[in-house]
Amino acid sequence: MKSTAIASGDEVDSYCGKCKLERVHNVVALVDGAVAKVLCKTCGSQHRYKSTKTEPKKKVRATTRKSSASGPARQLKLWEKAMEENGENARKPYSIFDMFVPGDIIEHSQFGSGVVTEVSAAGKMHVLFQEGPRRLIFNRVPPQETAA
Ligand SMILES: [Zn+2]
Repeated sequence: MKSTAIASGDEVDSYCGKCKLERVHNVVALVDGAVAKVLCKTCGSQHRYKSTKTEPKKKVRATTRKSSASGPARQLKLWEKAMEENGENARKPYSIFDMFVPGDIIEHSQFGSGVVTEVSAAGKMHVLFQEGPRRLIFNRVPPQETAA
């Protein structure tokens, strides 16, 4: 097995956009073991590494899949993302008397799990549920019969 590991500072051949020629470059930055940035030894310009070999471009664009994901599918994705991003946050059962902050995950008896996205001082919050965003009230003071 030949070791082809490239390290920062190694010399590689790359096309230089300034010299408009293939030049010897020094590796400046590596990404995942592949040369990402090079420094032209001739003109001293730094640029992205362009392989001298013509390789087929690997650009996979999932535009066809994305465009079909609208409406409920898109909503579901939003919810999944929000749940994932806030997965380590507190999980609380929903109660209108409790205090919630954005990022909290609430368990609603009717709508299921949701992520608090926004709260207002007026005691209303936006919660993203699997089926869509909803506005719920919270931080209500329990009725006190003695207060008259
Ligand atoms: Zn150059």
